[in-house]
Amino acid sequence: MIEPILTIVVPCYNEEAVLPKTFTELEQLLRELISEELVSDKSKILFVDDGSKDQTWNMIYKEGLRSPYIRGLKLARNVGHQNALIAGLMKAKDVSDCAVSIDADLQDDIRVIREFILKYREGCDIVFGVRKSRGTDTFFKRSTAQGFYRLMKKLGVDLIYNHADFRLMSKRALQELERFKEANFFLRGIVPLLGFRSDIVHYDRLERQAGETKYPLKKMLAFAFDGITSFSVSPIRFVLIVGLLSFLASLLFGGYFIALKFLGATQTGWTSLIISIWLIGGLQLIAIGVIGEYIGKIYKETKQRPKYIIDIDTMSLPIPRRHLLNSLGEDEPFRIDNKKVSETNQ
Ligand code: UDP
Ligand code: MG
Repeated sequence: MIEPILTIVVPCYNEEAVLPKTFTELEQLLRELISEELVSDKSKILFVDDGSKDQTWNMIYKEGLRSPYIRGLKLARNVGHQNALIAGLMKAKDVSDCAVSIDADLQDDIRVIREFILKYREGCDIVFGVRKSRGTDTFFKRSTAQGFYRLMKKLGVDLIYNHADFRLMSKRALQELERFKEANFFLRGIVPLLGFRSDIVHYDRLERQAGETKYPLKKMLAFAFDGITSFSVSPIRFVLIVGLLSFLASLLFGGYFIALKFLGATQTGWTSLIISIWLIGGLQLIAIGVIGEYIGKIYKETKQRPKYIIDIDTMSLPIPRRHLLNSLGEDEPFRIDNKKVSETNQ
């Protein structure tokens, strides 16, 4: 068997603190895999800079000049973890036989990638990394995440329990993934839908090696909400049922109020009347809100906007020098490196 070309895709957003460690560890791993003849020496590690505001891109770029295995993709602005990941995977699809996605913070055990490759060589198209425990997560993160998986299951969405975006996908699987044209792209929900032969590798999730989480509560909630509404219409059905129930209840209340009126005790009815007005008003607002959420999604889908825009791509040389200078800034500390690149560009 000819060794497969592997691309390890690493989305990075303001990761300057952890990157030096990530570079060394991933490169060392890739070198090992190559020397064990598990993957081809054309394999690469592709760092996707998701519009970082710190030194992330400069570091990736510089590292790419030093190492034959490190490459970078700089997105023109921050598009979020999922879209950055897709940008990297779609690039990987064109240049490799399989791709592994992993976070920059080394929370996922990189040694597991070896097992991914072994499974790939056995014929799997998709290999999911699944955490054994969430011991290193805070209690809050652990319980919210588990609640999320349970809720999704109840809503009929087939997610792999405790699987984040640490997985291997073959070229074929990536090609199929590309055919999912939706703008609200929820990878964890879509990958199991591909249906190719897949397997699971269990591993221990570690602590973030350096830097801070880029997923504060606000982003986490938005992610969960997106996941639910882009995969399931259950919320809208739920609203419909609540609406019907409250309609029935108000009919009963109506009869009650009329009876009260005939008994001449209308004043006592005022409280319940005003409460029901508020109640129905509230329900209607909820319903409109949920419908609005879906309409918003339809609106986004119909626009068919590109999910990301690539600024620089060191996978395919030569890079127009103008773009490079642009991205590295005028008072760049390593102008020498610019020169080096312009030489290789010739
Ligand atoms: N990330 C990204 N764009 C964003 C936010 C995060 O590319 O807008 C990357 C980040 O650099 C990291 C990965 O997504 O490699 C996961 O983020 P993080 O580790 O902060 O999330 P957590 O593990 O805390 O859920
Ligand atoms: Mg993390």
